[in-house]
Amino acid sequence: MSRPVPNPGILDIAPYTPGKSPVAEPGRKVFKLSANETPFGPSPKAIEAFKHVAEHLEDYPEGTSRVLREAIGRSFGLDPNRIICGAGSDEILNLLAHTYLGHGDEAISTTHGFLVYPIATMAVGAKNVVAAEKNLTCDVDAILNAVTSRTKLVWLANPNNPTGTYVPFDEVKRLRAGLPSHVLLVLDAAYADYVSRNDYEMGIELVATTENTVVTHTFSKIHGLAALRVGWMFGPEHIIDAVNRIRGPFNVSTPAMYAAVAAIEDTAHQAMSKQFTETWRNWLTEEIGKLGLKVTPGVANFVLIHFPQEGKTADAADAFLTKRGLVLRALKNYGLQHALRMTIGTEEANRLVVDALRDFMAGK
Ligand SMILES: *Cc1c(COP(=O)(O)O)cnc(C)c1O
Repeated sequence: MSRPVPNPGILDIAPYTPGKSPVAEPGRKVFKLSANETPFGPSPKAIEAFKHVAEHLEDYPEGTSRVLREAIGRSFGLDPNRIICGAGSDEILNLLAHTYLGHGDEAISTTHGFLVYPIATMAVGAKNVVAAEKNLTCDVDAILNAVTSRTKLVWLANPNNPTGTYVPFDEVKRLRAGLPSHVLLVLDAAYADYVSRNDYEMGIELVATTENTVVTHTFSKIHGLAALRVGWMFGPEHIIDAVNRIRGPFNVSTPAMYAAVAAIEDTAHQAMSKQFTETWRNWLTEEIGKLGLKVTPGVANFVLIHFPQEGKTADAADAFLTKRGLVLRALKNYGLQHALRMTIGTEEANRLVVDALRDFMAGK
């Protein structure tokens, strides 16, 4: 008997495996440090806005997310007409793939790029082309060398997940200048709020001055609204127009929209979270380094910890930490068999991880 068959390419996609959900020894408190969620939760004002909207769940949302586009516009100094909001930036990345990629096209991402990119690419029958990184960092020349006549799109998370490294804005501009003008450059700035480096920019200026670059961003990380699924994109008018034609008419729910408005307006909450993250990122990098483990210098809300290939392996560390209720992210499906990614948690969680890694390295 015949049965429905997925489109070409779909079954070549490796399913996305989210950060695992915790199972610890009985009696242990569990710290989920595997999905880059904030330990602070959202702004209390966002929770209040969410509850307020709960009184009117019978009404459809305003379909263009106007209040949220306006709030984002005020916050970043952008024209709200050039913003699209989505159910997480995941939705937006997929909308971009649907709008600009098809069978026979190629999209470039980097060796340890975000796994949603190959999924979005292959879901529309296009080919995922991988450009090598250098020192776990995007290599602009490798991307430019990977361009062929079929290339339509380049995905770049800056800073990148899971490596935590970033590309200086000069290099991003060099990338844009070296790509053919019909190739769409997608700059995913999910972790931009955590970066404090003089040579870093989200890329807003490139979007404003070119016809072929977009920036995407999310409310899932520093704003702590991952459960609500809200993301956005800033782009040239013609791209916003095209993507709006295939966007679901009510793709962002009202509670998500109003919670996000309150979150983006609470700049004190963001500043506190950014400062805390930086302090503890530095502390973790130093303390874990003292144990003889290498930590990739990152600029986001997580650290990438490398383990020896034999003996004290990443697998063994993962099992050891999990028993203590400390759940990190194994990265096999990112091609990083010998590393674990740790989201920066509460002070208690961060100290427990270092204590546990010390015991692990000492063979306790
Ligand atoms: C977490 C993350 C996002 C955010 O995805 P949402 O769908 O908005 O939750 C986007 N890009 C990268 C690289 C991420 O790590």
